[in-house]
Amino acid sequence: MARTPIVAGNWKMHLGRTPAHELLTALRDSLAGIEGIDMAVCPPAPWIADAADVLRGTRIGVGAQNVYWEPHGAFTGEVSAAMLAGTVDYVIVGHSERRHVFGETDEQSGRKLRTVLDLGMQPMLAVGELREEREDGRTNDVLRRQLLAAFADIERLPEGFIVAYEPVWAIGTGLTATPEIAQLTCADIRGILAERFDAATAESCRIQYGGSANAENAASLVGQPDVDGLLVGGAALQAESFTKICQAAAAVAS
Ligand code: PEP
Repeated sequence: MARTPIVAGNWKMHLGRTPAHELLTALRDSLAGIEGIDMAVCPPAPWIADAADVLRGTRIGVGAQNVYWEPHGAFTGEVSAAMLAGTVDYVIVGHSERRHVFGETDEQSGRKLRTVLDLGMQPMLAVGELREEREDGRTNDVLRRQLLAAFADIERLPEGFIVAYEPVWAIGTGLTATPEIAQLTCADIRGILAERFDAATAESCRIQYGGSANAENAASLVGQPDVDGLLVGGAALQAESFTKICQAAAAVAS
């Protein structure tokens, strides 16, 4: 089954309103004409509406970096999935910075995931192991635990469901996983998806790699058979590098 790769930029808590607008405008032009892959940007929450305006009518989707599962209420500082529905296409769920900086539990990631799916947006479910977990040979256990907890209340996944494999030791460190590590681990994730759901579902899922992806390593990562795109942090903050990454992924996909 052919899977359409997806390259998404996670801007994290970077860029004020004017530079964010400039980057959106630059990407609207520089990514025009790229086909064969899905593309998205996930700006900070206050700039999501700007992104939706600037990118309307393009092939570039808009994503949120986080979400809360309750639709409304006394939850100071949170943004609900219900408030994002209709404006964003994608929502990152369970990013390692949510898990490890803000203490988000596997169970909370699961509640977010179910809400995002229920409201018709596409989650990018981020999972990944810490350096010591990989060194101790516990990577597969950690990924299995994160995935199964996230899927606790989910009977089936939509076709093309997105998992982002993001080894925590590779995020923002410049220590990119080798294409071999990315491939082996993404294949393991696909195996867990097949066990939890079924082979056809697992085959249709798109598994991104994330962790210091850049214009130089994008092609070799996306060239792996089980790597179906990239979740990009630092290199998504400049139009030139994000465009080169998208071009490299599109070239591999063609
Ligand atoms: C990320 O934030 O999801 C990420 C992969 O960051 P970076 O590309 O900077 O490692």
